[in-house]
Amino acid sequence: MARSVLVLNSGSSSLKYAVIEPDSETMVVDGIVERIGEGEVRDHAEALQTAFGQMAEAGRGPDALDLVAVGHRVVHGGPDLYEPTLVDDALVARIDELSPLAPLHNPPALLGIKEARKALPDLPHVAVFDTAFFHDLPAAAATYAIDRDIAEQWHIRRYGFHGTSHQYVSEQAAAFLGVPLDSVRQIVLHLGNGASASAIVGGRPVDTSMGLTPMEGLVMGTRSGDIDPGLMFYLWRTAKMTVEDIEEMLNRRSGVRGLGGEVDFRMLHQRIESGDASAQLAYDVYIHRLRKYIGAYLALLGGADVITFTAGVGENDAAVRRDALSGMAPLGIELDEVLNTGPDKKARRISADRSPTTVLVVPTDEELAIARACTNLIEH
Ligand code: ADP
Repeated sequence: MARSVLVLNSGSSSLKYAVIEPDSETMVVDGIVERIGEGEVRDHAEALQTAFGQMAEAGRGPDALDLVAVGHRVVHGGPDLYEPTLVDDALVARIDELSPLAPLHNPPALLGIKEARKALPDLPHVAVFDTAFFHDLPAAAATYAIDRDIAEQWHIRRYGFHGTSHQYVSEQAAAFLGVPLDSVRQIVLHLGNGASASAIVGGRPVDTSMGLTPMEGLVMGTRSGDIDPGLMFYLWRTAKMTVEDIEEMLNRRSGVRGLGGEVDFRMLHQRIESGDASAQLAYDVYIHRLRKYIGAYLALLGGADVITFTAGVGENDAAVRRDALSGMAPLGIELDEVLNTGPDKKARRISADRSPTTVLVVPTDEELAIARACTNLIEH
């Protein structure tokens, strides 16, 4: 039996799990337990047992595997946590201290860690941080132009998220092109429910669209992305909304859902085709923001060698890819319509042969990247 890693991504109402054999890059079993706290599954302890039950039904319960580690996705590593790190009580306490920076994400991750350590006490548990890849973002990109003392006291900087995906996809893109990572200027567009863009030179990020929290940047499924911060004071002072109301609105009732009533792009396209003006506006705002970031990163990089689309929307939605890059031939970016709309699901080129910038679609695999991080750590 080949060694495998259990990868857990524990959110407030869902637990995603995957068992990966890192040596053969095989996904053995995966799944999701949803609606934690809302029905049969009362809490994260029960969610984990439900996941184990599902794995056992597939003949892949923990006892039937050669598990060597459990990898935990942790959204926010704050200023100091950025290497994959063995979980002990001290690390749990440090992640807990960061909860104010990521109140929606770190507490449920900690619940997942706590329960998994109880259920699988003999295995090493490893925390892999979504901020890690952006830890050494250049100061000019990481710094908000606000009062220095306040920023330092409260650890305010642009941290960036989806780092595991941006790193993995940028490495895959260079490998696909058959060029050394350190020679390429890349833009990676991770377009899932959450969405972020990054500019990468020589395998190191020079900018990314998410900031202190995963709310900054692109328009997302339910999040606003960039807004004028004045909007929040206005809502607080004049509309008398509470901080919690504003946070909930910007996180859950904004973005594509807030404008168009749909979070899923397949449904959004259907509504657009049936003549729904709000769905069309949601799509137009989404694309407009995406194009602004692509333009900004082209300027930062002085042109890109490769632009890569990834995650649910980026991998599947040919219309988004076409509209994100249309009219950019003068900037050296030209898609091949046939390649862009083709049925292939693997890593693939979608740019025209004559396009100086190569455009790729590369499926992301955060679970594999986390599993690899775990085996690297326990081997050294
Ligand atoms: P998450 O951020 O939850 O990991 P994913 O990367 O899985 O999200 O992306 C999920 C989103 O991908 C869905 O909400 C949907 O909008 C989009 N998506 C998935 N499949 C398709 C498809 N075939 N066509 C267009 N959009 C798709």
